[in-house]
Amino acid sequence: MSNQNPLNRNIETFLGCETEYEASRIVLYGAPFDSTTSYRPGTRFASRTMRAESYGLETYSPYQDMDLEDAKIFDGGDLELCFGDTPRALADIEKFARRVVEDHKLPFLLGGEHLVTLPAVKAVHAAYDDLCIIHFDAHTDLRDEYLGNPLSHATVIRRIWDLLGDGRIHQFGIRSGERAEWYWSREGHTHIQKFNFTGLQETIAALRGRPVYFTIDLDVLDPSCFPGTGTPEAGGVTFQELLRAALTVIRGCNIVGCDLVELSPPLDPSGASTATALKILREMLLCLEKPFLKPEQL
Ligand code: MN
Ligand code: MN
Repeated sequence: MSNQNPLNRNIETFLGCETEYEASRIVLYGAPFDSTTSYRPGTRFASRTMRAESYGLETYSPYQDMDLEDAKIFDGGDLELCFGDTPRALADIEKFARRVVEDHKLPFLLGGEHLVTLPAVKAVHAAYDDLCIIHFDAHTDLRDEYLGNPLSHATVIRRIWDLLGDGRIHQFGIRSGERAEWYWSREGHTHIQKFNFTGLQETIAALRGRPVYFTIDLDVLDPSCFPGTGTPEAGGVTFQELLRAALTVIRGCNIVGCDLVELSPPLDPSGASTATALKILREMLLCLEKPFLKPEQL
């Protein structure tokens, strides 16, 4: 830009998310936390890598004919989280998300590992008592503990169930978990759609009018298009399937909080996984900007 002030401060936000906090409806924030990752860490680098790499994207979406330059999104940057003290890190995430919710804005969290979803859901649940969850993932995440630890990315959805109770958690794309987790779910505790997004429209119809927190563990994607994640699981969905499903959820539900987690940039040096996550993020942000309940636009 030729007319740019040469003395501007160097402030990097996610592409096109430069609106001030007060004027924004959506607040993006990063939680660079991967302390409980069971296999390969690296998700702590996701939000900052996404922010830097976002400049490789266009702000314009040919999918939705919308532009991030017109969107009102505040990028709150990455939280400074205490490594080695999981409860304290989670408390700090919850505190930030509570502030956003109390200001009647939508908190959009970038992980980090999936455990960061727990404090974000707690913050939203404090304001929305009848909260429901739509959860895309390769994994059940329903263990009661992992290696003796009740707070893990393998237990996160079980901890959310502790808060919400039976029948309020809707899981899609799931293709991995301990036998005990599957059997526990079947007792009526959560709804699991194996492998794909079949039944998504029916779920959305059933949740009409209710507040929904939408959490996407990006390992729901097939590792062939998304290798940059700590626990890759073959047999996943395609980019187009995930994009379509995510936009269907956002258009059809009353979304009051959401997140994208489990991108691990160091595990895909090609950068393709980060680029894939960014495109999903751009489309979700744009879709959240428009009025809901327009399924005919899909
Ligand atoms: Mn997963
Ligand atoms: Mn997960």
